[in-house]
Amino acid sequence: MDIDYQKLRLDGIYQQSQKGDLMLRVKVPAGVLSSEQAEKICSISEQFSNQLLHLTCRGSIEFHWLQYRDVSQALAMLSAVGLTSRGACGGAVRGVSCSSSFSADFGIAQTLARKLHRHFAGNPHFEGLPKKFKIGVDAGYADARHLIQDIGLVYTKTVDAVHLYDVWCAGGLGREPQPAIVYEQAVPEHELIPLIEAVVRVYAQNTPPPKRLKFLLNQIGEAALREKVEAGRHHGTAPEPRATLDGPLTLPGDDPIEIPVFAGELKSADLQRLAGFAREYGNGYLALTADQNILLLLQKASDRLSLQKQLQTTGLLTDLPENRIRFRVCPGNHKCRMGLSPTRDVAMQICQALGDKQLTGTLAISGCSNACSQPQLATLGIITRKSIQQKDGTRTPLFDLFRQKDAGFGEVIRENLDIAGLLDAIVQESR
Ligand code: SF4
Repeated sequence: MDIDYQKLRLDGIYQQSQKGDLMLRVKVPAGVLSSEQAEKICSISEQFSNQLLHLTCRGSIEFHWLQYRDVSQALAMLSAVGLTSRGACGGAVRGVSCSSSFSADFGIAQTLARKLHRHFAGNPHFEGLPKKFKIGVDAGYADARHLIQDIGLVYTKTVDAVHLYDVWCAGGLGREPQPAIVYEQAVPEHELIPLIEAVVRVYAQNTPPPKRLKFLLNQIGEAALREKVEAGRHHGTAPEPRATLDGPLTLPGDDPIEIPVFAGELKSADLQRLAGFAREYGNGYLALTADQNILLLLQKASDRLSLQKQLQTTGLLTDLPENRIRFRVCPGNHKCRMGLSPTRDVAMQICQALGDKQLTGTLAISGCSNACSQPQLATLGIITRKSIQQKDGTRTPLFDLFRQKDAGFGEVIRENLDIAGLLDAIVQESR
């Protein structure tokens, strides 16, 4: 059977290998997942995948090794719990991320992220775009993720019960990283959807595939981009905002317990257990963090010790060396067709090389220059730049090492390192 893999992308599916194995990416709005949704994801993984889930840095979840014949049933199972993969790959508005899960204002940011997800996910007006279009909501400037979005929204304050956001525009990583520009500050929440719609339309109408919005900004300049957006800003499809009962799904003012997930790879059996704990100790919701970990939010602070004990007993909370480093790791050539290095193996080799040495901050590893693990926003970032074929047919990956010095993008401090050189450089940087 001839499969149109290009068409499948809009349903969140990429070809994983020439053999026909597929990756299915599920949008999890704001990274907030109910226990019921988590259990359904486990069922899909157990029936159609390999019982291993990949948590992305944008709060999405990926299944690997799916077969085409199983896709419809997997999508139907997702739909039964209100989840979709529509627009998670290809030229569409991607999953709306929210990297503020530890912030006091997480409730405000996640409520907006979910509202934007409802508006843009699967909306045909915002599909068939030149390439991906990423929206991220943050509750503050702490981690600089607004710099890498096509539209980055940063909550700043609430005035007269209206939430105000700074709007950043046309950022992105990949082969040509470019920090976003400030488009407008203190925009009231009800004005955001018409503004984002205008930006998406300008992008769709003026950008050659497969370029992103940052390309258009560079081509026509900031003044012309603003002129085009403003011309269409008040002619959107967005309905008038109405009163809503919508609010945060997670518990307010909570001190969450973070479950480390090494390199973002989670056993479905472990997610099943976490879903149970979220029901027993929380209000039935988990949060996926931007560092590929999971937060459990407690209903009663007095349950903390008891939950910690249960997490330790079930092996979910351990003091293994690999859990002492805050990694972000993309699937690399373990699973991704673009991958030039075995990123998880590299992460484990780094743990072994560091031994008892401390590495503060985050360490992000990407298997190619697409930079899916956001290495330019990590304390130390690694990008696999190329892979050299050796005489015996094996391939040697070469890495660039980045270090973040201030709030902007990290800069390359070492280039073209083989694995031994990379490990050595990281040990030196940890001193
Ligand atoms: S960075 Fe490259 S190898 Fe890693 S997931 Fe993205 S495309 Fe694949």
